Amino acid sequence: MRYFSEKEEPATSTDELFMREALRLAKIAYQEDEIPIGAVIVANQQIIAKGYNLTERLNDVTAHAEMQAFTSAANHLGGKYLKGCTLYVTVEPCVMCAGASYWTQLERIVFGAKDDKRGYSALNEKIIHPKTEVVGGVLETECATLIKSFFRNKRR
Ligand SMILES: [Zn+2]
Repeated sequence: MRYFSEKEEPATSTDELFMREALRLAKIAYQEDEIPIGAVIVANQQIIAKGYNLTERLNDVTAHAEMQAFTSAANHLGGKYLKGCTLYVTVEPCVMCAGASYWTQLERIVFGAKDDKRGYSALNEKIIHPKTEVVGGVLETECATLIKSFFRNKRR
């Protein structure tokens, strides 16, 4: 996994562009009182699927942003594999979503904020498909700030 630190090395502008859209979706989740995580899937430089966390609305612990986006992307492509696609997600995927990404054969995963507690890399780095490239830390500060403010408001 490559991890960009905003102080040392800036992410590429394309990655930031798509992460902006994932952040926009995360903000919609926030407004709906869902944990604010957003995801988009890109193929050939175009967004083919979007998702945000819907665990409250669907009353389903598996309804993470990435799972929504995988299903939507597979529907869009008419096949279950997402070869050549990139997942952009505002927070590091959990083990469930990283495991699902394995089955999709995704080419790249780009995430924003690291999740030291529930992120896959803290628990099992090998869960990612060996051919999938992972890049973290894209728009890290904005992604982290959004989720932190959500939990701060919840505790009030
Ligand atoms: Zn997940």
